[in-house]
Amino acid sequence: MSSLTNCPECNHEILSRLGTVCPECGHTIGYFNGDRKRKVYGKFFALTVFAPFISLITILFASQNKYTMIVGTLIYLFLAVKSCPLLFKEIFFTSFEKVFFWLIWIIANSIMFSLIFNITQKGFE
Ligand SMILES: [Zn+2]
Repeated sequence: MSSLTNCPECNHEILSRLGTVCPECGHTIGYFNGDRKRKVYGKFFALTVFAPFISLITILFASQNKYTMIVGTLIYLFLAVKSCPLLFKEIFFTSFEKVFFWLIWIIANSIMFSLIFNITQKGFE
């Protein structure tokens, strides 16, 4: 649900919902406007994009042997938890956004999980 916030331009009280236009100065609330929630949103967005990418590279390098694979899997699990939408549920504006990020997270992690499973099943020298 939307809460009230102060306009970063003129301090007039407005809805914190994305796209709200301040009636005093015309400032539009966007994703990356100064306030804390927007910063968290930016961080979460970056995590959603980079966590699966970093995990993939890590796992590909780690697949050399059993020991690097254990480390790689731990890094992957850490990133998966860090980028989980559950930790960021207060920043979503709409339920569409929530579903969208959950889908990305679930798909990315399913791919990672099957990749790790395949590498592990193949066994190491
Ligand atoms: Zn304003």
